[in-house]
Amino acid sequence: MVQLKQRIIRKCKSMGVPMVGFASSERWDQPPFQPWIPEEFRPRAILPEAKTVIVLGMPVTLPVVETAPSIAHHQLYKTVNELLDQSTYLLSNYLNVMGYGSMFVPRDGYGHLSLLKDKPIVFFSQRHAAFLAGLGTFGVNNVLLTKEYGSRVRFGSVFTAAEIDPDPIMEGELCIRCMRCVKVCPVKALPGQGYPRGLTDKEACARRNLYLLERYEAPCGLCIKVCPIGEDRELFNRKDMTIYDDGEARHEALHRAWRHVQSYGSGPHTHA
Ligand code: SF4
Ligand code: SF4
Repeated sequence: MVQLKQRIIRKCKSMGVPMVGFASSERWDQPPFQPWIPEEFRPRAILPEAKTVIVLGMPVTLPVVETAPSIAHHQLYKTVNELLDQSTYLLSNYLNVMGYGSMFVPRDGYGHLSLLKDKPIVFFSQRHAAFLAGLGTFGVNNVLLTKEYGSRVRFGSVFTAAEIDPDPIMEGELCIRCMRCVKVCPVKALPGQGYPRGLTDKEACARRNLYLLERYEAPCGLCIKVCPIGEDRELFNRKDMTIYDDGEARHEALHRAWRHVQSYGSGPHTHA
């Protein structure tokens, strides 16, 4: 099975997927904290044969996230989701051909954002899967933070009958409780106590995202933009967090660039 794990990792790299983690499906039945995921949302309730959940992670590019809300960020979100769904689907087929019954779980388990307004949950939580597969820890912004990309990463999963050595769950916390995510949220959806004590006001978040969707600017992404965690900050020379503070004359060029991108290709509907 070590060999199979290496083959899967190589397959993911060849598809351009930089993050891969493995969790035994039993982990869902050993709650690491409360409140935990109800039984019908767990892998073995959805696919009884599932022994392992393979979680794939793809980054959302920091300089694009910085333009949010914008058409560039909107398109990036769609592109990453599509690539993730394609990758998890192809990986599940790869395993099926080898004789291990497998299924992909789509990145976004809802048909339209409006459905989340009244029922803001989906049939399987990708961020909990990523946590159990050792890819990161939860932040005050209620999403998973990773060493590599902070919370600027999206996850998709494959359930498989193959029994593969799980990766260790990450210990400690990556979140430094700077509260930037709490302060930046325009609808005050983050209570600030951290996960799982301070849960996101999902209805308020969904309402803001619905408004942005009408303008081709969803998702909001502000709370993941300002998170200081992630090695991507070094790559893009974005370690100085004052770049996001208004009125910082030193960073006027960056703010001008973001305003430029925000000014074109999105906004209120104008078609009759
Ligand atoms: S996505 Fe936007 S609205 Fe939702 S919690 Fe983050 S900052 Fe707030
Ligand atoms: S912005 Fe700060 S408080 Fe919020 S998740 Fe990131 S490190 Fe934690």
